[in-house]
Amino acid sequence: MTYRMAKVIVDVPSRETDRPFDYLIPESMASWLEIGSRVAVPFGRRTIQGFVISLHEQPEMDAARMKPIQEMLDLLPPLPQDLVELASWMSRKYACSMIATLQAMIPTALKGKTERYISVADNDELPQDEEGMSVLPILTDEEKQIVAYVRASGHVLMDHLSARFPAYPGILKGLLRRGTLTESQVIKDKVRKKTIKSVSVAVQGDEAEAALSSFTAQAKRQKEVLEFLLEVGIPISLQEVLSTLGVTAGTVKKLAEKGFAVIEDVEVFRDPYQGRHFKGSTPLERTPEQENVYRRLIAALDAHRHEVFLLHGVTGSGKTEVYLQTIERCISLGRQAIVLVPEISLTPQMVERFKGRFGGKVAVMHSRLSTGERYDEWRKIREGRVEVAIGARSAVFAPFQNLGLIVMDEEHETSYKQEETPKYHARDVAVRRARQHGAAVILGSATPSLESYHAARSGGGDRHEEFAPVLLEMKQRPSGSQLPAVQIVDMREELKEGNRSMFSRALHQGIAARLERGEQTVLFLNRRGYSTFVMCRTCGYVAGCPECDISLTYHQKSNNLRCHYCGYAEPAPSVCPECGSEHIRYFGTGTQRVEGELAKLFPGIRVIRMDVDTTSEKGSHEKLLQAFRDKKGDVLLGTQMVAKGLDFPDVTLVGVIAADTALNFPDFRAAEKTFQLLTQVAGRAGRHQLPGEVFIQTYMPEHYSIVHASGHDYTSFVREELKHRRALYYPPYSRLILVTLSHEKLPLLLRMAENFAGDLRAKAQRLGWFGSLDRLTPSALDILGPVASPIPRIKNRYRFQCMVKYRGDLDAVSLVRETAATTLDQLKDGDFQISIDVDPQMLM
Ligand code: ADP
Ligand code: ZN
Ligand code: ZN
Repeated sequence: MTYRMAKVIVDVPSRETDRPFDYLIPESMASWLEIGSRVAVPFGRRTIQGFVISLHEQPEMDAARMKPIQEMLDLLPPLPQDLVELASWMSRKYACSMIATLQAMIPTALKGKTERYISVADNDELPQDEEGMSVLPILTDEEKQIVAYVRASGHVLMDHLSARFPAYPGILKGLLRRGTLTESQVIKDKVRKKTIKSVSVAVQGDEAEAALSSFTAQAKRQKEVLEFLLEVGIPISLQEVLSTLGVTAGTVKKLAEKGFAVIEDVEVFRDPYQGRHFKGSTPLERTPEQENVYRRLIAALDAHRHEVFLLHGVTGSGKTEVYLQTIERCISLGRQAIVLVPEISLTPQMVERFKGRFGGKVAVMHSRLSTGERYDEWRKIREGRVEVAIGARSAVFAPFQNLGLIVMDEEHETSYKQEETPKYHARDVAVRRARQHGAAVILGSATPSLESYHAARSGGGDRHEEFAPVLLEMKQRPSGSQLPAVQIVDMREELKEGNRSMFSRALHQGIAARLERGEQTVLFLNRRGYSTFVMCRTCGYVAGCPECDISLTYHQKSNNLRCHYCGYAEPAPSVCPECGSEHIRYFGTGTQRVEGELAKLFPGIRVIRMDVDTTSEKGSHEKLLQAFRDKKGDVLLGTQMVAKGLDFPDVTLVGVIAADTALNFPDFRAAEKTFQLLTQVAGRAGRHQLPGEVFIQTYMPEHYSIVHASGHDYTSFVREELKHRRALYYPPYSRLILVTLSHEKLPLLLRMAENFAGDLRAKAQRLGWFGSLDRLTPSALDILGPVASPIPRIKNRYRFQCMVKYRGDLDAVSLVRETAATTLDQLKDGDFQISIDVDPQMLM
């Protein structure tokens, strides 16, 4: 006799448990359980959540030792089989645990938590009390009190019980250990499906007639309700019945008791966009450029062929229109589409365009939705009620069954890389997932990442794995409008001329002219250059976090200083704690300072400021943009947020306050990021009838990223940038793995970091991989470090890092992962951590 078994990945985040455990499948679940099912299983003394990753048969002998699955948590498995496969691929590629990748794929609402219930044990061997319940003979007064309370309540939540009897935790434990009380555990979802009470009529024809004539004069209201329900004919919400007829719930209930009507709970979807009207739109006639691109895209769709496209189109070239029409084709072929955008709360216009074209067929996965709303949007996808999902990077896991297309807009954006475990890049995951489905991928951008562009140009290039996209280009704007003229303003010259303001004379005049003509201005400030720190003008003291090597950030609202890494906070000082000087200043955010200066220079100017401070509330971002669109502001001032996807007809001037603030960062992508930002910002001006003007203020006017951005010249920028990358063997001419080791004790950490690097070197040498990348071998691996991390201490933990740089067909990830595991084993110390970041985007 054989038994049905399931391999389950359990929700215990530890290295030792990153493998499946075997469980018996009870008869009752046999026909329901699938790969991807979420289950509650016994694990040690606890009940925890897990995911079924495979099913198999097992001989009776082995099965005898196994525990059965306790409960199946959903009828429809939250993860279709293809996502379970994808999770296992991700765990290999990004060197992370399987449970971490599985958890990343389901909505927060389903990350069930264990609830512990306490009840009184029914034990036959113990003496019984007058109610026939067993009791232990000797109970103290306190014990009796607890047992009596639990008995009276039936079963009690553990948390509730310890809150009710806070002084007795030891006693409670003793009762559990002696078996007077027992504990049971269940997995509870964080959010439930939402239901409403609905009423429908339960009698028809003659029956209904008879019912109507049966009411006494006192039951006049009940009769009215029945008449109303007969007239409506379909189930209707109880609330609506009550408000329409002005009756009480009791009246409807009596009707139901007589069997004339039925009241039941009906599941409804929370709709975050309820009541919002989206202006409908129809496909535009394609321009010749769009036509070429479109034909090529739908050829892949029609042939059900997996193909990756890199759509390089200047800002305003009509990429979004191409996405919309390609998706329409995809839907007409009976398949579904995913649209990925960098940060959806920053792109309300994108959502509007998709809702406007596809209406109720679109689910929106929005980071600012409530957990319940997100869960409902997700369920619409899982249950096949929608055909398009739009969202930020995690929407790549939208559980569609028959995926035809994945669109990734602004594919160069760093937010596609998740910085927490699992540290995946949505681009690579999208390509992999599309391959499973035989689906097409469109990577769209005006400034493609060098990795994607290089891969397209070199047929896969050094990114041996994943993909070699087909390059498609769009160089013109359908509107016929020209890309705006861009002027570089040398701020060193301004200084020489005695202008100490943050506005050059040219930008100052530009703003003044816009104010006069009633046109609008967008001012952009690179966030990374400025922060709100506190500095003493007398001695140079800067307030820093005592636990992390980083300066504290000033928060105006609460008038305190906070650490953005660990949350440490202290009141803002009024005198310098070092020297007692009163000349201690709060340097406001860059945007606050610019706002102040604008008010000084242009009295009465209406500035809409958009930064982390003004957009922390839900919906505030949309509100600010709408206000600007309604021309309630002359200037839209902001950080990265204003650079993305905005499209305002009356914006004719764009100013970049300081273009080079990020150029000196120790990050090999600094030039690329600067170029991308400047190109994007410049694209905001003159998108409609009015011609646009752009001023880029900089102290490095001859830097190639600034020069080429001002000329809208992506190709020249790439040529130059690739030269630099090749000279130093940076991606795309190599791949990187960043390994960060951390511990509270510095000397110990240093030793472990050196052990790790030495061990890794030795292993690579044995495999014949180790060697400098500048030799002309097709594959090589180099290890840089260990060195102190750019932020050398966070939350009192010191940090060291090693950078692994390699090229060619080597499984460097596995090697690093194994070596990390051995290093961790050398120090049996829960405090020691090693984190692995494959293809890192943030190098500081
Ligand atoms: P992108 O996504 O490349 O920035 P969009 O799709 O937003 O470009 O298009 C820019 C503008 O051009 C939008 O206002 C859009 O409505 C318009 N547009 C796009 N395609 C066409 C077309 N074929 N005919 C006319 N207008 C178009
Ligand atoms: Zn001082
Ligand atoms: Zn800190």
